[in-house]
Amino acid sequence: MEKPENLLAPFRALCRNPGAQLDKVLAEGKKAVGVLPYFCPEELVYAVGMRPFGLWGAELECASSGRYYPGFICSILHTTLEMGLRGMLDGLSAVMVPTCCDALKSFGPNWKYGVGAIPVIDAAWGQNRKTPAGEEFTRASFRRILGRLAELAGRRASDAALAEAIAVCNENRAALRAFTAAAAAHPEAVSPADRSAVLKAGFFLDRKEHTAMVRALTEALNALPESRWKGLRLVTTGILADSPALLDILGESGFAVMDDQVAQESVLFRRDVPVTEDPALGLARYLGQAEGCSVLYDPGKERGRELVRLARAAKADGVLWVMAKFCDPEEFDLVPVKRMLEDAGIPLLTVEADQQSASYEQARSALEAFAEMLRG
Ligand code: SF4
Repeated sequence: MEKPENLLAPFRALCRNPGAQLDKVLAEGKKAVGVLPYFCPEELVYAVGMRPFGLWGAELECASSGRYYPGFICSILHTTLEMGLRGMLDGLSAVMVPTCCDALKSFGPNWKYGVGAIPVIDAAWGQNRKTPAGEEFTRASFRRILGRLAELAGRRASDAALAEAIAVCNENRAALRAFTAAAAAHPEAVSPADRSAVLKAGFFLDRKEHTAMVRALTEALNALPESRWKGLRLVTTGILADSPALLDILGESGFAVMDDQVAQESVLFRRDVPVTEDPALGLARYLGQAEGCSVLYDPGKERGRELVRLARAAKADGVLWVMAKFCDPEEFDLVPVKRMLEDAGIPLLTVEADQQSASYEQARSALEAFAEMLRG
């Protein structure tokens, strides 16, 4: 059986250069659609025979996006727009943009004005996502998006194709859940940066291909002898926790990620899309059942209760909140969720993440101090 370290290498390579994957897809004559966070169903893109390509920003310094966005907008949107303005996303047939935070609401108009040639598909869903009326609003919205994608793809969008796409993505979710469990059992073999790369690569690969790679890795991890690792156990939360520099500091400070409630990670695969007669309704229900993300309407702060449960189940020493700089929804959630963690006696550290900043040395000091405090 292949060693885990050999199976991890391709995930790291993919995340170092996602653009190469986009070029490959386009060179094969396929059409691709950029999918911004959050909860834009990739299944709709697969259902019309196109490839989704995740757009979660990039670690780069922006030179042009400042003409469209002020400096106090998060780096996901600055750097994604910058990639569009620099032509790094040329060849996409469209970008799908949700309207679930104030900054995202202006992304579509900025993109249309600045990038222009790549059309925008606005994705809206019901804020009251758990009610029948909210579900119906979201279902109808997803149907409209499917129609628009079908026009761009030049082919009909059948319910059978959508159901098949949901099945493929649900298989990927199950594979990722099995992988995160195996990674938590073997922190000596999967560093925080490796874990992130495995999860993130799915945004750039065909989901079937990703599932096969993740399953092979999980099998190799499960075949390892029982771990004797004695480091510190973390659960992470936030929007993104994918900066290699920050994740390397985590590993160097003796932490492993046992579980996460990160919008780019487990939030997306903790639950499957329900199988329903109308597959678009299943996608709407999935959104109603999702938890753990600050852009979801969550008046009772289930996010905090879930985080406490995850931390306890993982026997975590603490929670790390990777706070996306200039993200209002995250800052609003921080106060009540922090209180819930305090009430549960779970230590919390917050570090700020910014894709436009290459330096995490302040975070290193904070993490080293947090580690010392946890070790007592
Ligand atoms: S939720 Fe936060 S990080 Fe995400 S796009 Fe909105 S402001 Fe940016």
